[in-house]
Amino acid sequence: MKLLEERIRRDGKIRENGAVLKVDSFLNHQIDVELYNEMGREFFRLFGDEGVTRILTIEASGIGIACVTAQYFGVPVLFAKKSKTRNIDGSVYVTQVHSFTHGGDYDVMVAKDFLLPTDRVLLIDDFLANGSALQGLMDLVSQAGATVVGAGICVEKAFQPGGDALRAQGLRVESLARIAAMSEEAGGTFC
Ligand code: 5GP
Repeated sequence: MKLLEERIRRDGKIRENGAVLKVDSFLNHQIDVELYNEMGREFFRLFGDEGVTRILTIEASGIGIACVTAQYFGVPVLFAKKSKTRNIDGSVYVTQVHSFTHGGDYDVMVAKDFLLPTDRVLLIDDFLANGSALQGLMDLVSQAGATVVGAGICVEKAFQPGGDALRAQGLRVESLARIAAMSEEAGGTFC
């Protein structure tokens, strides 16, 4: 998506020896709602005829783009919540995710009431790096016996293995910007 690529080129900041792209001025701290709206429209163009009944994302940075996208689909957004409590009464699905940006593993959960076997689920997230967040979301959908129709990602760092691994598993991954390589000195290039 040209609009997003241009914005990344203009306002993105490459940090941590080329491992992290900061997009705080328009994507995941301050939010450019018009850009979100264009991305939501594009996700609807890509997945609009898949019979999506629910959008699933992960706390916190996926929630905004998931909500804007959901307005095109007319379906609810469910976000996997970071959780420290045990699944004592069995009312939630829980899975573990490794945090790319903060390091370490954490549990996320969704209430069983909000993810049904009849659901056709579109996964949405801001970034795809090693794929742990998406793998976790797929695991929650699978625990519910629901169907994943695909994943809509704003920025895929294609030099990390997540996207290829998920596609090899048969997941349809659509990324609006795919970064082939990036370094603090040379900047980034798109696929
Ligand atoms: P993965 O689970 O695919 O390794 O990483 C995806 C998650 O890590 C996303 O939900 C996103 O919040 C965060 N993330 C991964 N790489 C980046 C990055 O370069 N910049 C930012 N801002 N977040 C990232």
